[in-house]
Amino acid sequence: MEDNRVFNFSAGPSMLPLQVLRRAGAEITNYRGSGMSVMEMSHRSKVFDEIFQGAKEKLRRALKVPQEYEILLLQGGASTQFSAVPLNLISATGRADYAITGNFANIAFQEAKKYGAVRAACSSADKGHTYIPRQEELDLDPQASYFYYCANNTIYGTEWHYVPETGAVPLVCDMSSDILSTPVDVSKYGLILAGAQKNMAPAGLTVVILRRDLAGHELPITPLMLSYQRMIDKDSMYNTPPCWCIYILGLVLDWVEEQGGVEAMEANRRKRAELLYETIDGSRLFTAPARADSRSYMNVAFRTASDELDAKFVAESVEAGFTNLKGHRLSGGMRASIYNAMPMEGVERLADFIRRFDRAN
Ligand SMILES: *Cc1c(COP(=O)(O)O)cnc(C)c1O
Repeated sequence: MEDNRVFNFSAGPSMLPLQVLRRAGAEITNYRGSGMSVMEMSHRSKVFDEIFQGAKEKLRRALKVPQEYEILLLQGGASTQFSAVPLNLISATGRADYAITGNFANIAFQEAKKYGAVRAACSSADKGHTYIPRQEELDLDPQASYFYYCANNTIYGTEWHYVPETGAVPLVCDMSSDILSTPVDVSKYGLILAGAQKNMAPAGLTVVILRRDLAGHELPITPLMLSYQRMIDKDSMYNTPPCWCIYILGLVLDWVEEQGGVEAMEANRRKRAELLYETIDGSRLFTAPARADSRSYMNVAFRTASDELDAKFVAESVEAGFTNLKGHRLSGGMRASIYNAMPMEGVERLADFIRRFDRAN
């Protein structure tokens, strides 16, 4: 790869397209004749307003976000939304359903319990979060204010390959690790949230897409900064937004568009993931713990039968020029995070490396 860059399989923050980094580098001291860096601009300036509105418009275009939905560009990470979601939405009935399919879904669930009567509509904890429950396994409360799930379980390498059917109950979805990797029918959702650092931009930006009628009903205790209605009224600029990250988001969205949009991202992610799963399935040593119908296209979790061999694999992978293949401490084993910006070449080289290791051990 150019510039001595490594194939970085980090779960997040993760690789950004080289073209985006180059462009940001070229513009870093003087953004398009403004005489200053985007990092130095007033967020109220005309030049920044164009960057800001441009990023929002490009995101609306990329995900075909309907007009009755607001796009908020916030700070605090996906984790802050674990509190903001119940604070803003649970007042409808005081109840909410959560699908517990991994670590982040469970954190969101535990947090929401502070604000209402929250129930687990399903849990995959019985099998170490290696699968996504099927529609008929969901125990749905028709009185829930919303149904919450996490589209892609970054740590365990599982992904929902269907959109849950919840009738009139609005869907709330954490798409931190698969947003912009696949087309989404936004009209099926009440709210989508995503930290930017997996597939969109540097850490520090959180995207919330919500149906406008769901805002304005927050609990009276809702902190100033967590009110969706206030952020809608102020176009995400109640205070200083994460200006630099928003600028990079715009560049990433330009790149996604040039590549052929989210449809092209979907085709690419399938190619990347299928090559790795085929390689793992065809090996003697490696297995992917996720159930076949629940495998993630973004985070490929795999392991050998022994912790020592896993450690050897990780150590040798670093020597071979890969980074961040060690699995999360909760799941163990290995994990290759292959977001939009991971070139196919990186995945081909990793597949070769897996085959060589399989033969040699
Ligand atoms: C990384 C991640 C989070 C946590 O995001 P922060 O921005 O660090 O709060 C939450 N949910 C999912 C699915 C993630 O991948």
